[in-house]
Amino acid sequence: MPAIVIHQANDLRLEDHPAPPPGAGEVQVRITRGGICGSDLHYVSHGGFGSVRLAEPMILGHEVVGTVALCGPGVTGVTPGDAVAINPALPCGTCRFCRADQSNHCLDMRFFGSAMRRPHVQGAFRSEITVNFRQLVPLPQGLDPARAVFAEPLAVALHAVKRAGVRPGDRVIIAGMGPIGALILLAARYAGATTIVATDIAAEPLALARTLGADQAIKPDGLSLFTEDRGYFNIGFEASGAAAAPGALLGVVEPRGRIIQVGLGGDLPISSMSLVAKEIDICGAFRFTHEFDHAVTLLGAGAIDVAPLLTAVFPVVQASAAFALAADRSRAMKVQISF
Ligand code: ZN
Repeated sequence: MPAIVIHQANDLRLEDHPAPPPGAGEVQVRITRGGICGSDLHYVSHGGFGSVRLAEPMILGHEVVGTVALCGPGVTGVTPGDAVAINPALPCGTCRFCRADQSNHCLDMRFFGSAMRRPHVQGAFRSEITVNFRQLVPLPQGLDPARAVFAEPLAVALHAVKRAGVRPGDRVIIAGMGPIGALILLAARYAGATTIVATDIAAEPLALARTLGADQAIKPDGLSLFTEDRGYFNIGFEASGAAAAPGALLGVVEPRGRIIQVGLGGDLPISSMSLVAKEIDICGAFRFTHEFDHAVTLLGAGAIDVAPLLTAVFPVVQASAAFALAADRSRAMKVQISF
């Protein structure tokens, strides 16, 4: 029952972690596919990010799909054999943010493979896992695991697009073409954005942005084309985590435009003059709420085609090779692991 466990930076191990039998309201799921996320890579390379640090061994992974194996008493909605996506978020359901339909701000959130809590919430890169049945979303007929496992990062992108309020006719700039930036591109187009320009410092992600339908995909220094008349775009997404990116977006987003910060990094230096004089709204976007279910539906309907993002699939026994490839932006967008 191999699980992918991070002990400390650069100490990734395969260990046996059998899942406990399901109790009331629980389901044991055989994991079929997992997607490696930037946060998984941070744990492997640096032992964490920002103030979030590994204090004990942790099973990685929060982008997973699988097949229902066993159902405990009181489970509804799924039966053994069903293919399911697993929502990695388990909010408490009773705190003031959960009651206000803002479960991504839950005061007692349990999120797979996260060192934000102690003890850490163990992740889902493992052959089998026992979860609360409310975390399961049955896969629509015909949605294969390779595409279904994009539900979690797509939910992040859908939430960012919702925070932006993208509408038909909007002119959108996206800084950073990692998997989240690329999925924001697809989600913004689905929401009706007319013009989408993508930026990245590397050539390979820009080539993918063109494949995904970006109107232009350029290096950040090309943004000077869009600063005339106080800026061209009405919405900017910051998905790179680079410290200089929000300042660059302030230069090309027009007065009363909106910038959505999705990328995580350190402190962000921005010009108060630009922010004030252009009356720019800057807001954050963190994880997702109902967008997870919506993402599964959209993927099942073929409304958003994530296939171009998939770089490679590795068996779990080659987890180290999978993580090494995923960390190389010149060769990889999304790397998956099969269990
Ligand atoms: Zn809560």
